[in-house]
Parts: sequence; C-alpha cells; structure tokens
Amino acid sequence: MKIWQILIAVVVLVLVAGAGYLYTQVRALEVEQLSDDLWVLRGFGGNTAVLKTRAGTVVVDTMTLGIQGDHIRETARALTGMPTVMIINTHYHLDHTHGNPAFEPGTRVLSTERTLQYLHTVDGDFWQGGAAELMPNETFSDRQTLFVGDKKIELVHPGPGHTDGDLVVIFVDEGVAHLGDLFFNGHYPNIDLEAGGTVQAWPTTLDNVLALNFDRVIPGHGATTDRNGIRTFQRFLQQLGDIGEQAAAEDWTLEQVRSTAMLTEDAGYEPIEFIVSLGLDRGFVLQRAWEEATGQFVRHLDTAGAR
Ligand SMILES: [Zn+2]
Repeated sequence: MKIWQILIAVVVLVLVAGAGYLYTQVRALEVEQLSDDLWVLRGFGGNTAVLKTRAGTVVVDTMTLGIQGDHIRETARALTGMPTVMIINTHYHLDHTHGNPAFEPGTRVLSTERTLQYLHTVDGDFWQGGAAELMPNETFSDRQTLFVGDKKIELVHPGPGHTDGDLVVIFVDEGVAHLGDLFFNGHYPNIDLEAGGTVQAWPTTLDNVLALNFDRVIPGHGATTDRNGIRTFQRFLQQLGDIGEQAAAEDWTLEQVRSTAMLTEDAGYEPIEFIVSLGLDRGFVLQRAWEEATGQFVRHLDTAGAR
C-alpha cells in the first residue's frame, strides 16, 4: 500500500466514525418514567412526552429530525405497546415539530391556530409534500379538553411568552403538566419576539399556568421538576424584563445592557449545546429583553396574538 492510499483509508475511517458518532448522538433518547402511563424522552431538541391510553399513544412534541421522529415513534410503541394515535405540538419551532412526518399519515395532530399559522408562514418550505400530511389538523385558540381512551387531557394557551401561540398540556390523571418552551429549566430560553414572544408578559402567562391543577412539570428543555421550578424561572424572567425596561428608560446601548451585572436570577443556568453552542446564552436573552423594550424587532404576522 502506498502512503497516499493509507492516508485516504484513514480519512475515510475518520469520516465514517464521525458520521456514526453524529448519528448515534442525534438518535440518542434518554427515557424517564413519571407514572405507570407517562414517560419523558429527552434528546437533541425539546422534551417529548409519551402517554399510554386505552385508545393508543399520545406524543407531545417530536424533536428536530426525521431519524429522531422515527426513534420516538418506535420507542413510544415499545413503552406503551400501542401505536401513536395523536401528536400534540406545543408550538411551531422545528425542534418540537420536525419529527412529525415520521408518524403515520392520518394521525390526529393538535396545536393552537396560531402555531399552524406560523408553520405555514415562517416554516412553509419544510411542510411540503408528504410532510404536510403531518401538520396540525385539529386546532383551537384558547382551551381544549380531550378524552383519549381512559385519559383526560387539557390543552391551554395561557398567553404569550416564548411565542404568542404556545400551549400547555395537562395530563389530568397523572397530575403532570408539559409546558413546552414556556419553561426552560436551568437553561437560557429562546425569546421569539418575531412570533409574538415577550419577556414583559411572560411572567403573567406563567401565573395563568400556575393557576392550573398539576404537581409534576415537564419543561420544553431541561430536567423535570415541580411548580417551584416554574416560579424560579418566573423570577428570572421578571428580572430580565425589568432590566429591559430600565435600559429603554435610560437609553442604554446594547453593549451597556450586555455588560450589566443586574441579572442574578440566572445563577446556574447553562447555554443549551449540541456538539456546538446554539447561541442561547446570557448575552442573547439580555439582547432580546433590550430589543423588546426598545421596539427593535419586526413581527412575522401583522395582527397581535390570540391574547
Ligand atoms: Zn421553542
């Protein structure tokens, strides 16, 4: 074998090993059981909930990639012994919806009307052809009560925060709420101002969530927790909003905002990373709070949100 042949062989080996590593990382799912009939799947993208009912399986959010959607579908089937009959999408972001097309056409897919609007307008290129069959096909604006087999599920749009179309899922029989990205636990949140997200109104929206009946909490990202976990995140948002307001009132530059020491409620927060940083860090949330308070953003849709 000549040297160049060996070199090529080494390069090919490294590429294959790298691709294998990436594939394994992306497909990896951590499974946590919350009750006899409820599990959380954690992987690259938001937290997925899997509920077993007598009428089949309900899946909340489907992560980012088709291969993740496939793995969620297979894992849910293995855990519950039942095929997925319903998907609930908490909001339109790709890390919660792009696994949908891995499920059977004809599956019930629920979201708010607002979420469906954003899927069409902001992410329309993805939802073409076969993918369009797994777009939300049952929508509501404020509140929806579902009975699936032996289980009761409440879907509530509690107000704007992460976007202006997020819903919260209450698994009534389990006493568990899935908050989607209205709650990042221990991580800096994305604040989608362009899709009606708002630091200013987010704490009040979480008050509306805390008025609902549940004990355990599944966040959109981060570890499962309880109602106090939501309150901790609420204090962080309140402080972040106050900083934005003060910056606007005193004409701070973005550099002044980003160097402020006023933000303390983010102690222990970590930026979300997947092999590389996704940019959701302290500087990002301070920038978004400043942009909201000073009106420096443009909405995707003209009309104000459902609430
Ligand atoms: Zn999101």
